[in-house]
Amino acid sequence: MTDQLPINEWDLNKTAARRDKYYASSLTRFTPFRDPIVFRKGQGQYLWDTEGRKYTDLLGMNVCISVGHSHPKVVAAAMEQAQELTHCTTMFYHPTPAHLAEELAATMPKGHEWVVHLTNSGSEAVDLAMTMARTFTGNLDLLALRTAYHGPTAAAQSITGISGWRHPGMPGNVAFVPEPNQYRGIFGPGTQPYLDEIDRTIASATSGNVAGIFVESVQGYGGIIEMPTGYMSGAAERVRAAGGLYIADEVQSGFGRTGANFWGFEADGVVPDIVVMAKGLGNGFPIGAVVARKHVAAPMAEKFMFHTYGANPTSAAAARAVLAVMKEETLQKNAARVGGALLERLKDLQTRHEKIGDVRGKGLMLAIEIVSDRASKTPDRDATTSVFEACREQGLILSKSGADQSVLRMVPPLCLSMDDVDQTAEALDRAFQNL
Ligand code: PMP
Repeated sequence: MTDQLPINEWDLNKTAARRDKYYASSLTRFTPFRDPIVFRKGQGQYLWDTEGRKYTDLLGMNVCISVGHSHPKVVAAAMEQAQELTHCTTMFYHPTPAHLAEELAATMPKGHEWVVHLTNSGSEAVDLAMTMARTFTGNLDLLALRTAYHGPTAAAQSITGISGWRHPGMPGNVAFVPEPNQYRGIFGPGTQPYLDEIDRTIASATSGNVAGIFVESVQGYGGIIEMPTGYMSGAAERVRAAGGLYIADEVQSGFGRTGANFWGFEADGVVPDIVVMAKGLGNGFPIGAVVARKHVAAPMAEKFMFHTYGANPTSAAAARAVLAVMKEETLQKNAARVGGALLERLKDLQTRHEKIGDVRGKGLMLAIEIVSDRASKTPDRDATTSVFEACREQGLILSKSGADQSVLRMVPPLCLSMDDVDQTAEALDRAFQNL
């Protein structure tokens, strides 16, 4: 927190007051710090506020910053494109989104034909995938996981399981299955009972013919809940037996974030029918995508599939640069290496602090779950808030997540360094000592 930026005209209190007065959004949930912060600058994994204080962004601005804040190559690509032609609708041809589509298709499992539809956001991609699955299968019923979050739009809300993140009155035809949470899932650790429950749910809570199941390979807002070995492939098998599709929501868990694989679903060898992505794809530029097997997309594409900004060349140029930088800077490898080191440090903290109930995740998608005591596993929301605030005072931006808001989520830019790991572990250690 030493680097000093010139104090400028940005008045923190006026900005905070203006924002609180005019923004219609869940401020208390998503700006949970006691005092406001106005960020002015970002570079790599760091942010600076208006007073020149430096922070390590372990939230990755909500998992959007994959290759680093304001990465010069991504910014340059978007600027060049915007100067030449900012927007060109899908009705016409433009090489940039067409190249991006080819590059995204190439990241998918080999031996299948993949097609791409670009959107502005994750929830638009989720909505589109829902309609695509229903159109292709001719079935209405969808399955989703109880602690899933799939977005704020009405359709995405209908498959969001966490009640605190879902409004009443959303569209129906959705049945929820229990998440295979290895720490506090209703069937304890393991995979099979959770798969059996998918069969039971299809038989008891749907028409018997389903359109598909949506699965986050590692649940994000749900509290970094990784699907155990065999769950994704087993879920796909069961749902396909009932006529449905396997839809991977990779909005948080994709783009090399989990280290070992580029896509989270690869961990289990499952070949999805549809993959939904956003966030890290644009490194902060608004873009999402549905990547689907060609025959699955065909019936919907023939009828109607169009977004005004669906193939926006400026966002597409940024996304192409993100893919190139991921390779050039071997960021997936870095996520595995640095994430592995951070996980070890978090596990070490767990041996010394009773309130750390669980440490989990992989690559740079990690979490600490905070409990009142390990025996009862009672979520400790107040302690989570205290640790979160104490970390902010030490220059670390984290995020609270999980259905009980007692999970500290770490999803930084994939360029996090070993020095950042030390700083994070030390800051967390001090925060837990002072609880
Ligand atoms: N799916 C997942 C797994 C997400 O985490 C989110 C956003 N947090 C979405 C979908 C929705 O994305 P967006 O907010 O870009 O609409």
